[in-house]
Amino acid sequence: MLVDVHSHLFGCPDHLGPGFLAQAGRARPDEVDLTVRWEQYAASAPADSLAIVFGGKARLSDLWVDDESVAAYVAEHSDRLIGFMALDPTQPGWQEEMRRGHRDLGLRGIKLMPMYAGFDPGDEELDPLWTYASDHGLPVLMHTGTTFISQAPLEYARPVLADRVARRFPEQRLVLAHLGHPYEGECIAVIRKHSHVYADVSALHYRPYQLWRALMLVQEYGVWDKLLFGSDYPFTTVDDSVAGLRRVARIPSPAGLHGVDTGEVESLIARDALSLLGLSNG
Ligand SMILES: [Zn+2]
Repeated sequence: MLVDVHSHLFGCPDHLGPGFLAQAGRARPDEVDLTVRWEQYAASAPADSLAIVFGGKARLSDLWVDDESVAAYVAEHSDRLIGFMALDPTQPGWQEEMRRGHRDLGLRGIKLMPMYAGFDPGDEELDPLWTYASDHGLPVLMHTGTTFISQAPLEYARPVLADRVARRFPEQRLVLAHLGHPYEGECIAVIRKHSHVYADVSALHYRPYQLWRALMLVQEYGVWDKLLFGSDYPFTTVDDSVAGLRRVARIPSPAGLHGVDTGEVESLIARDALSLLGLSNG
């Protein structure tokens, strides 16, 4: 069964401010409507698939989806959706939002956007976040990789920042989004050395050469089992992401190299991410 570990809830223009939308055109060459519609999502995903959904909070980048909206969306489709809260620890009140998201809203993980919000996830000031998440078994999905937003500091985009977190909180389930693009090699170095750190392959299929190269690196380092399927809807869809992965897997490899293992790509698409993230019961 397919699990999409990376889907968003956005409402335009309520959650995405003008500062975000004005720059979103850099995300994809073609224009993408970022308003989330369940019918559209469901029509482009297998009928029995499950999705982790979150909004996002990053005041610096003019993005703010309140957790109540996510909880309400999940409640409407509770047989298919698992909700994560989002936290921006540069803003006052994030610790209250964390406890409320977990205890009152029933959200089961945390989405962080360090670069978009402007913080280092390994900063010791965030120890209360990692301690709470570890103590309560809340997986954290963290944006890694570049962006289209000018004011977002790239130094907080690097997958290596998760290494410090994982060394100090080794039981914490972590997902590094987008295989850290274009720092895929660095992302692979991190997921390889920590047994509970994974990467998702969301939002990569529209750069086929880069995804092919990244999957070749994954294969050579032997970390196929650390990749989780994700779409990044509404930037793309589940069906397009699956088709894109399969297309990239069929790219013929240069002479002397083994190609991308299509069986591993199928295993990735079918991987039971919920068990790996400790979310399979409930
Ligand atoms: Zn995303």
